Amino acid sequence: MLKLDKFHEECGVIGIFGHAEASNLVYLGLYALQHRGQEGAGISSSDGKQFFTEKGKGLVADIFSEKNLKRLPGHIAIGHNRYSTSGSSTLRNVQPIVANSSMGLLGIAHNGNLVNADELRAEIEEEGAIFQSTSDSEVIIHLIARSRADGFHAKVIDALQTVSGAFSLVLLRNNELLAVRDPLGVRPMSLGQIDGAYVVASETCAFDLIGAKYIRDIEPGEMLIINSEGLRSLRAIHSPRRAFCVFEFIYFARPDSYIFGGYNVNEIRKEFGRQLAREAPVEADIVIPVPDSGVPAAIGYSEESGIPFDFGLIRNHYIGRTFIEPRQNIRHFGVKIKLNPVRELLEGKRVVVVDDSIVRGTTSQKIVKMLREGGLAREVHMRISSPPTIGPCFYGIDTPTRQELIASTHSVEEIKKHITADSLSYLTLEGVRNIVPNPEDFCAACFDNCYPISFPGESMQQLELMFGR
Ligand code: AMP
Repeated sequence: MLKLDKFHEECGVIGIFGHAEASNLVYLGLYALQHRGQEGAGISSSDGKQFFTEKGKGLVADIFSEKNLKRLPGHIAIGHNRYSTSGSSTLRNVQPIVANSSMGLLGIAHNGNLVNADELRAEIEEEGAIFQSTSDSEVIIHLIARSRADGFHAKVIDALQTVSGAFSLVLLRNNELLAVRDPLGVRPMSLGQIDGAYVVASETCAFDLIGAKYIRDIEPGEMLIINSEGLRSLRAIHSPRRAFCVFEFIYFARPDSYIFGGYNVNEIRKEFGRQLAREAPVEADIVIPVPDSGVPAAIGYSEESGIPFDFGLIRNHYIGRTFIEPRQNIRHFGVKIKLNPVRELLEGKRVVVVDDSIVRGTTSQKIVKMLREGGLAREVHMRISSPPTIGPCFYGIDTPTRQELIASTHSVEEIKKHITADSLSYLTLEGVRNIVPNPEDFCAACFDNCYPISFPGESMQQLELMFGR
């Protein structure tokens, strides 16, 4: 039986080898990668003899202190930010996962989602193994430990050839750091250097914070072995094609990062906005973003259309994930707790609102209502800088089931009515393909239902039923 929590994993990973301040640098890198996961975080370090691990639930700032960072000595460290919206958000699932094996202690931190992890787990459990967590990463550890291949590196390759899905992962062993990216390269991962030490991270924004220099991406199917002998690259897993996640460009990655061959996320998002303005022009007085994710596309829309840009919605950045809406005797807060309109800018105006995506349609509906309330905006035109989201992601982006994705069951006209906008337009898939470099190298399954990694033993329909929340 597939486990529900598999559907919710978006994560950030980082690893560093050969630096006296390894765990401090990993800690800082986790701050930069916080947007990739807010559920929990952890760091494991090694001094070549022993392993040290500190982890907790919540944000990096809540988990780490001077005191527990001191408990992470050594010149190698790996770190992980975990994202989970519901289900098993127990501390046991917070990574890195560390286990003892015949090859000594192993630590693993993984971003992505394996599609055959449950089958593999069931097989391994059948043979008597005991799991500490429900995380996919532990399956990889078991597979490495049980592999009959000769030598540690061969065992890792053997294990990773058995799993199917998306993985950008770092592995820590006594005196080395391994970094591997799945054969299709679904999730990003880059290599950098700082003070002669090597660092790998999900996104280059982590390098900027610690002052590391970006060298290159880790290639799909590549395994990097970093130890006292330096850096070695192995073409570990046959890579038949690429399937970079287009949603990283649309929503998930940070705008200051360079991903998928060194392309700046902000520039791509602005281009999406420009293309959207060409595809879906409208007469209006002001372009405003839904902050933060809609900002670059809104700037692009404004530049291309000549309609002035401004911040018409102000976001409260301090709500946190634990906000509980009071239920009794207090009016419904809705999206207001997070966003508030700037009356001065919007009163009597024809407003273009740019957001990166519509998932269930709740955010857009509330925003349109808020912008009209009390005679504020005269017209509200919603512009979305991605195509209609019609398919759930099985490779690591948190999306609801197909039935809950409003665009899978409603036409654009119906969605426009639902969110009560004067007009609604999405960027076309052709528009996206015109902008991303080498579009054939991308997975856009959430927009076109073409899933590049098949699901062993399950039909898509069965899978969606099981993944239903
Ligand atoms: P919804 O209200 O369900 O239509 O969600 C749309 C909003 O969620 C947009 O403002 C997006 O920026 C944001 N969004 C899109 N994808 C995700 C995701 N995977 N996790 C969290 N937020 C998202």
